[in-house]
Amino acid sequence: MILQVSSLLADARVNDVREQLEARGVRTMLFRGGEHSFIRCIGDPTVCRDIARAHSIAFTGSEEATPLVARVTADHRTVVRVGAQAATVIGGPTCAVIAGPCAVEGRDVLLETARGVRAGGAGLLRGGAFKPRSSPYTFQGMGDAGLDLLEEARRETGLPIVTEVMDPRQVDRVAEVADVLQVGARNMQNYPLLDELGRLPRPVLLKRGLAATVAEWLFAAERILAAGNPNVILCERGIRTYETVTRNTLDVGAVAAVRHMTHLPVIVDPSHAAGRRELVIPLALAAVAAGADGLIVEVHPRPAEALSDGQQSLDLLQFSELMRSVSAVAQAVGRSVWRQDHLAQEVAA
Ligand code: PEP
Ligand code: MN
Repeated sequence: MILQVSSLLADARVNDVREQLEARGVRTMLFRGGEHSFIRCIGDPTVCRDIARAHSIAFTGSEEATPLVARVTADHRTVVRVGAQAATVIGGPTCAVIAGPCAVEGRDVLLETARGVRAGGAGLLRGGAFKPRSSPYTFQGMGDAGLDLLEEARRETGLPIVTEVMDPRQVDRVAEVADVLQVGARNMQNYPLLDELGRLPRPVLLKRGLAATVAEWLFAAERILAAGNPNVILCERGIRTYETVTRNTLDVGAVAAVRHMTHLPVIVDPSHAAGRRELVIPLALAAVAAGADGLIVEVHPRPAEALSDGQQSLDLLQFSELMRSVSAVAQAVGRSVWRQDHLAQEVAA
């Protein structure tokens, strides 16, 4: 149920209403809009109605709990703030570009990649320390040691870190390093993992499952929000279809649809969708044109030597080319690209 309050209502009154609801077991979230603000309620609808009436507040919504992921008004958009100073943003008017290797492979190559993508204009660094590989006989990631290297790369470049967590038992350790915890496509419905991530305030990048419908994907996000963590970023990475010319089929329609359905930011992974280097830039451009709030792209200084996903990784020159063309498309749709090096210049100025 949603209670609609005038934005002119004093903060103290709004807090008072929320406290009364919470005291009677209703979970509340406040969304401040232009003319109106909304208190989103999850709990007994009778209690919500009684309290709303006692305060002469209008209420809408069915007897069911309104999903936390649902977009309530046209200007309802969540901006997820990332990093120690919360200076990096995902969502809002800018597009964030997360770039880096599929897997952390070693110190020198990670630092070289991190410096390269930062110079190319990335906003965040990606790299898996724990890798969900299809074959158990391939490189499974550096594990703990990989996390230490990611920490060093952040210290050196200032880029916030996006890295995958696969196991609920590893959440606390990965969260020591990750600014954004990535849930891979294979784990989108790993409910114990989602519940554990819901305990933290740390942003979560939730990839769409290989064969998940949009509704299932949004319910997975709902689960994290319902457990108490509002900082979820959705990521479309291509779905399994009968088509094999691309590794997965990038569902651009879902990106546009999901942006209507939810206030959460939605980004796109063109690398795992394409599966082939030469298709990554065109898919990235399509994603931004369709309204994606950002991209996550695999980059390796020497893709032929990569221990995983080399065939879909851009080299540093190609990454700079991607950034140039993405910036042009972003501008055409009224956005700009969030660059970490610009942020550093602003801080220095
Ligand atoms: C990855 O980002 O490296 C990855 C394994 O992606 P996905 O979970 O989308 O397959
Ligand atoms: Mn990969």
